[in-house]
Amino acid sequence: MFKGFTRFLQSPGEHLKALLGPQDAPGGSTGLRIIPRQEHPVSRQHFSDGALKVLYRLHNAGFEAYLVGGCIRDSLLGRMPKDFDVATDATPEQVKELFRNSRIIGRRFRIVHVRFGREVIEVTTFRGKPGDDHGDHIAQQSDDGLLLRDNVWGNIQEDALRRDFTVNALYYSIADFSIHDFADGVRDIEARTLRLIGDPATRYREDPVRMLRAVRFAGKLEFRLDPATEAPIREHASLLLQIPPARLFDEILKLFMGGHGLDTFHLLRHYDLFAMLFPEADEAMAELPWAERLVELALESTDRRIAEERPVTPAFLFAALLWGPVQLRLAALEADDMPPIPALQAAAQQVVSRQLQHISIPKRFSLPMRDIWDLQQRLPLRRGRRVYQTREHPRFRAAYDLLLLREAAGELEPDLGDWWTAFQEADEHEQRRLLGKVGADPAGSGAPRKRRRRRRKPRGPSGDA
Ligand code: ATP
Ligand code: MG
Repeated sequence: MFKGFTRFLQSPGEHLKALLGPQDAPGGSTGLRIIPRQEHPVSRQHFSDGALKVLYRLHNAGFEAYLVGGCIRDSLLGRMPKDFDVATDATPEQVKELFRNSRIIGRRFRIVHVRFGREVIEVTTFRGKPGDDHGDHIAQQSDDGLLLRDNVWGNIQEDALRRDFTVNALYYSIADFSIHDFADGVRDIEARTLRLIGDPATRYREDPVRMLRAVRFAGKLEFRLDPATEAPIREHASLLLQIPPARLFDEILKLFMGGHGLDTFHLLRHYDLFAMLFPEADEAMAELPWAERLVELALESTDRRIAEERPVTPAFLFAALLWGPVQLRLAALEADDMPPIPALQAAAQQVVSRQLQHISIPKRFSLPMRDIWDLQQRLPLRRGRRVYQTREHPRFRAAYDLLLLREAAGELEPDLGDWWTAFQEADEHEQRRLLGKVGADPAGSGAPRKRRRRRRKPRGPSGDA
C-alpha cells in the first residue's frame, strides 16, 4: 500500500552546495529568492502526468500555478516525490470548473482534489493571514489560538508564510520552471534542518498536529529539528488532545507507515507525544517489560516490508501497539475469575473504546485487529481439527507474525512459534506427527503458555521431545 522511495538524483547535496555558494549561516527569513531552472536539479521528469496536467491547465487559463511542499522538498533531496500538491490563485470554485474530475473537500481547510485514475492531486488556493478577512472567506481561531478554519485567500507570499516548515515552502513555477524560496527553505534543506516558519509556540498552538509533522519529517528525512522549533514541543504536547480523532488517524498512518516508523516512534516517545496519542500503550510500556520491545519489533518489521515494497496493514500495527494494554486488562479480569475467552473479549472492547477517544480506527482495521488478538488464544490449541481451522483463518498469518514478535519481545517462550513454523512447513504426514506430539503434551490442550507457567520440554535437534 505504501511504497518506499527511490533515489534518482546523483548527490543532490553537492548540486545544492554549488547552487547556494558561500552563504551566511541559516537564519531568519530574508524574503523571496528565485532560483532559475538552470540552477536547480528539479525537473518536470520527476512529476507525474497528472500533476503536470493540473499545472498547465491552470496556467493556460490565466492562473498562477506552482508545485509546492513535499514534492519539491523531496525532489531537491533526490527522493522520488510520492504525491503532488499544487498552489494557485484560482479559488476552489474556479479550480473545480476547470476539472471535471475534481471535487471540493474539507471545511477547516477547503481544497480541491483532482483525480486521474488512482492519483489525486491536491490543489490549494493561496492562503492569506488569518487576521485579514477580505471577501467572503473565513478564518476562525479558538481562545487558545487553535485555527478552526483557515479559508482566507491571499497571495503566494502570504501563502508561503502560512506553511509549516521552511523546507515545505518552496514553490516550483510552471511558467518558467524556477523555484521560489520565501523562507530560506533551500538553505535548510542543505543544512538538513527542520525549522518552523514564524514563532514556533504560536504555530504549534494554531495547529498542534505540526508537532507530529516535525517528528515525522525528522524521522523520514533524517533532519534535525532547529533548537527553537524543538524547544516548545514537550510543553505543548497535550494540545494534541484537542485534535479530532479522525484527523489523528491519518497522521498516525503517515507516522508509522511512512517507512521510518521505528525512528519516528522513538522521537514521539522522546518528545512525550506518544502518550497523547496512545495513553494506555504508554502506561503498558511502563508496566510490562516486553511491551515497548513488542512495538519496536512490529515497527521494524513494518519498515522492512515497506523498504521491500511488500504490503503492510495498519491492523497488524495497531494489534501490536495495543496488545500491552489488552494484556494488562486481561490480567485484571482474570484475577477477578473471569474465564479467559470472555476476559479477552472484554479487555479488547475496553481498550478499543478508550483508544477511539484519541484516534479513530476505522472498522476495516479494528475488526481484523481484534481477530488477530482472538487468534492469540487459539494458537496454543493444537489438537485435531481446530489446528486446521486456525490455519485457514484469514488472519492466521498476521496472528502468527504477532505471536513471533511476542516471543521475540520476551513475553512468551519461543516454543509455540517454533511449532507453528514447523507445522506450516510440514507435509501432511509430518503435520499429523506434529499434532500427535502435542496430543501427548498436556500443554497442547490449551492454556496460553506464559513464562511463569513454563514447562520443561527438552527438544532434540530432530524436534523429538
Ligand atoms: P508528504 O506529502 O511527503 O507527507 P508534505 O510536506 O507534502 O509531505 P502534505 O501533508 O502533503 O505534506 O502537505 C503539503 C504542504 O502543505 C506541506 O508541505 C506544507 O507546506 C503545507 N501544510 C500541510 N500541513 C500543514 C499544517 N498543518 N500547517 C501548515 N502547513 C501545512
Ligand atoms: Mg504532500
